[in-house]
Amino acid sequence: MTKKALVTGITGQDGAYLAELLLDKGYEVHGLARRSSTSDVNLTRLEWLGIERDVRIVDGDLLDLSGLLRTMRDIAPDEVYNLAAQSFVKSSWQQPILTGQVTGIGVANVLEAVRLQKPDARFYQASSSEMYGLIQEPMQSETTPFYPRSPYAVAKLYGHWLTVNYRESFGLHASSGILFNHESPLRGIEFVTRKVTDGVARIKLGQAKELRLGNIDAKRDWGHSKDYVRAMWLMVQQDEADDYVVATGRTTTVREMCRLAFEHVGLNIDDHLVIDAELFRPAEVEVLLGNPQKAREKFGWEPKISLEDMIVEMVEADLKRLEK
Ligand code: NDP
Ligand code: GDP
Repeated sequence: MTKKALVTGITGQDGAYLAELLLDKGYEVHGLARRSSTSDVNLTRLEWLGIERDVRIVDGDLLDLSGLLRTMRDIAPDEVYNLAAQSFVKSSWQQPILTGQVTGIGVANVLEAVRLQKPDARFYQASSSEMYGLIQEPMQSETTPFYPRSPYAVAKLYGHWLTVNYRESFGLHASSGILFNHESPLRGIEFVTRKVTDGVARIKLGQAKELRLGNIDAKRDWGHSKDYVRAMWLMVQQDEADDYVVATGRTTTVREMCRLAFEHVGLNIDDHLVIDAELFRPAEVEVLLGNPQKAREKFGWEPKISLEDMIVEMVEADLKRLEK
């Protein structure tokens, strides 16, 4: 029997890589996507991977419970991956209520649709290392207390605990993946890695002179989206639903990540990097470093792609795109 998966956030970075992985495994993949009044569903990332014709797009919005109920009934998926969110931390201060509705209450809508229409479906929630925020421990694991530092992280914390609660209250097979930052050439341009690789490519091609960044002392545990969607799938295949940290166990400053990008194209970071006070955040998560031991021990997950290789892949992809 062909397994069916429903992926929310299919037009995003992880949605694309997860769809690719599920299709490779023989799944029938349905992707929930929003239409806009001025353009059709944005299939750019699925097109980049050459899978836009293989994914079945279903119209929907995380805010529309009735649509989610109908979708869940009609598709009757075996697995539901809830990746949709207002996912950019900085925007969450400009749009705290929308972020709460989509990134927080949206999870309740999807969980309700699963509970009421397809309670035997397995559910994955895209939780975030941002929930640790002002952390007290040098390395964050599943038992580290949370201290969110942005409206985004507060909303994610609601989604995380609701997933745990639906597992405990209703016996849903609901797992929460606490994923640390993960990137790729499909990362949104507003996130720092992609902003850097796009900016470096522009400078190399003579289309820009400088790259403006905010807090370059912040440290992140960066992995590759391709590795991280594999962890999502593995989590959902376990007999028991549970929560897992997915991280590399290595942390790097924004400055060092940026230096890697400049170095790859033979440029000196100090000749082009400008610090812009406007780009600092009202509250910062200074350092994130995850301990992926549980995922390694439970289902043998290991990241395969290094930060260095990922930055080179991203710079090269941006150079190619900008040269066109
Ligand atoms: P993206 O920002 O690339 O994708 C977000 C997706 O959510 C898009 O497909 C977007 O659709 C969709 N979306 C937004 N609002 C709604 C809505 N109201 N209804 C339906 N869909 C909506 O995120 P990533 O792929 O990078 O991340 C996937 C998930 O993992 C997100 O929940 C994110 O918060 C979380 N996460 C990501 C991490 C990372 O480092 N990448 C780390 C930890 C967690 P549209 O194209 O229409 O805007
Ligand atoms: P986040 O960890 O989900 O917020 O991912 P981002 O990629 O948006 O930001 C990672 C870190 O880079 C944060 O500590 C930001 O403050 C820092 N940073 C510094 N300059 C910038 C910038 O210009 N844009 C973004 N997005 N982040 C920046």
